[in-house]
Amino acid sequence: MQLDQNFASRNARMKASEIRELLKLLDQPDIISFAGGIPDPALFPADDFAEAFTIALAPDRQAQALQYSVSEGYLPLRQWIVGEMKKIGIVCEPENVLITSGSQQALDYLGKLFLSPGDTALVGWPTYLGALAAFNAYEPRYDRLSLNGNRTAESYAEGAAEAGSTVKFAYLSPDFANPTGETLDRAGRFRLLELADKLDCAVIEDAAYQSLRYDGEPVLPVLALEIEQKGSIEDCRTVYCGTFSKTLAPGVRIGWAVAAKPVIAQMVLLKQAADLHTASINQMAVHGVAETCFDAHVEQLRAVYQRRRDVMLAAMAEHMPEGVEWTRPEGGMFIWVTLPDGMSGAGLLARSLETERVAFVPGQAFFADGSGQNTIRLSFSNSYHTAIEEGIARLGRLLRSV
Ligand code: PMP
Repeated sequence: MQLDQNFASRNARMKASEIRELLKLLDQPDIISFAGGIPDPALFPADDFAEAFTIALAPDRQAQALQYSVSEGYLPLRQWIVGEMKKIGIVCEPENVLITSGSQQALDYLGKLFLSPGDTALVGWPTYLGALAAFNAYEPRYDRLSLNGNRTAESYAEGAAEAGSTVKFAYLSPDFANPTGETLDRAGRFRLLELADKLDCAVIEDAAYQSLRYDGEPVLPVLALEIEQKGSIEDCRTVYCGTFSKTLAPGVRIGWAVAAKPVIAQMVLLKQAADLHTASINQMAVHGVAETCFDAHVEQLRAVYQRRRDVMLAAMAEHMPEGVEWTRPEGGMFIWVTLPDGMSGAGLLARSLETERVAFVPGQAFFADGSGQNTIRLSFSNSYHTAIEEGIARLGRLLRSV
């Protein structure tokens, strides 16, 4: 039976992720993989989780852990998040927080909340592939979010109007972005807020990597700067998306969104309709782990990932030939490489897998307009020093030979 012609139009924009297809091939033990942007499983606080799940299943708590619960999320976890947000300048209440099944779900709900077909979403060129996948389902028009002062608010509005569209939001990951590793400075964040004010659109701040800063000065989140400007979160247009995936463990699927109450209230309705609530037992376990070891654990992660970043940057400096450029991230998991003009990241990957057995992600998938052929993303989070040194040496050898 062929049902594809019965699929809704939104499916036309939803293609299998090249990266996921690729990752399936990378289980072979002789491959050095810089492809997946994933945490090192050896660093998961597994014993703390074992204890927290046991506590959640103790006789006095098991009914709550295994029962349906409210769509907003487990209140003690939301209260803990309120405390964490306050430390980075985001003054809010539990009613400003929705627990989601990973921040990916928040991105899906925000697409659903803001985008009617043809509406404009401003995204970086490149941007997080998963955000494009989430928004694509709502059939948007994309325009390139550029914050270096060479695009005016009017040019975005006019471009949208010509296409019969309106700008609904700007999406970005301001700290150690996936895929570039770059951080938007404070002045850039103010330019973003000014742009959003002029366009009267929302800002989606994806803070997935924000806790993983290794050096340099922290920059306040966009939402914190906006609260400073406007006096209260209730007057803010920024929606902040956080996650425990990069700090504790992605498998528990716990993230959160923080925004003005009416935005959260509407997202709660979307969540009710989609999955009722995020797994109660996982929320309770994450709360338990977060309360006991969050700061110490993140400190340990930072120390390990910082060294891996340093090893990769040193190896790049040693082995990359002339004409190859790369970012020097202050945190996160990624280094973004620009190959000489005309060279293809996808082509390089094919040759690399064949001859050098090194994997990475071709950058093109991160561009809403399909450009970026000569870029690749390297992740340093899930490889030991020797593998990083060896993999980058092999990549350098391959690049010199093409
Ligand atoms: N945003 C960014 C920038 C990411 O890199 C990721 C994970 N790759 C996510 C959001 C989604 O993460 P999760 O759903 O696990 O919170």
